[in-house]
Amino acid sequence: MKAYLEFCLANQDWLLELIESLVAIESPSDDPAAVNRCGNELASRLEAIGGAITRVPSAAAGDHLRASFGSGSKQVLLLGHFDTVWPIGQLDRMPLKHEGGRLYGPGVFDMKAGIGLAMLATRALIEHGKLDDSRIVMLWTTDEEVGSKTSRALIEAEATRSDAVLVFEPSLPGGALKTSRKGVGQFEMIAGGVSAHAGLDPGKGVSAIRELARQITAIDDLQDPANGVTLTVGLVSGGTRANVVPAEARATIDARAITRADADRVQRTLRSLQPRIAGASIEVSGGFDRPPLERTAAVERLFNQAKAVAAEIGITLEEGSAGGGSDGNFTAAIGVPTLDGFGAIGDGAHAIHEHVEVDALIPRAATIAGLLHSLARRSS
Ligand SMILES: [Zn+2]
Repeated sequence: MKAYLEFCLANQDWLLELIESLVAIESPSDDPAAVNRCGNELASRLEAIGGAITRVPSAAAGDHLRASFGSGSKQVLLLGHFDTVWPIGQLDRMPLKHEGGRLYGPGVFDMKAGIGLAMLATRALIEHGKLDDSRIVMLWTTDEEVGSKTSRALIEAEATRSDAVLVFEPSLPGGALKTSRKGVGQFEMIAGGVSAHAGLDPGKGVSAIRELARQITAIDDLQDPANGVTLTVGLVSGGTRANVVPAEARATIDARAITRADADRVQRTLRSLQPRIAGASIEVSGGFDRPPLERTAAVERLFNQAKAVAAEIGITLEEGSAGGGSDGNFTAAIGVPTLDGFGAIGDGAHAIHEHVEVDALIPRAATIAGLLHSLARRSS
């Protein structure tokens, strides 16, 4: 452990320069050309540290990057994304700067610093000859911030070949890892009715809005906040004019759950809702796009392994849960032990004060290197 810490310390400038160079090339998810500019820089740096690079083009996003290190049969997947939520030009509004022990910049916390940490930890392992029997595969994708539509299959395929997955999304406050993440679902409900003149023929009409209102009350009743099940009707629309009984109304529902069982139950219930008003119809589409990352026994074992490694350099590694989903939800759902939130310590993801704590970077990288070492040893 001490050797890894020393190696990482000696390469602090290398790490900072790497992170800054990635932040300096803006990469909004919806601008594939810009994302690929950042990807080109990342690919050349991955190559420079010995990675075998594969570019995976995608129709709607930038090219995903896969980098493989070592040739053993056991594989650990290091997962993250280099697209950001920030538009081109954001760098002028929140420039890269060091201030008060922090490094600020768009995408630095979510999650370009995490990519740097994974790369430094991998270098440390290569340097110390610990990749002889195992393989590290990095997958840096380009559409996480917009739902991972083009990367999901790739992520799942790579996870299937792996013994463990470390996700380099931002840590929880203070550096805690995310050993559970809620599953996130989105549903649309369309209520149908019969239009009629509100004054002349109200009895002939069936109000889709009235039907929808009753459904929303039923949806509210599905909540179980004490057990982490929440449903939010975040959007509603319907009707055409004030004096027309409305024939259609729609609602968009955000649903979250901690366990697969709850997610399945919510999905089943939403899909089987029946109309409450005679003559009305309802139709529900959608589902849990990101299944929950559950704190299984295997996740707990992996966390304890990380915690033991961190303790060797005097760090108390904590764990917690997150209400939002990440690509770690996909890998956990197919049964591969996944630890999320291994990225930098900082604050302000998707916010104007986005930053990482500079002094925490090196101990973090050393902890990651130590965990990779212990995973390689366990599997050899
Ligand atoms: Zn992220």
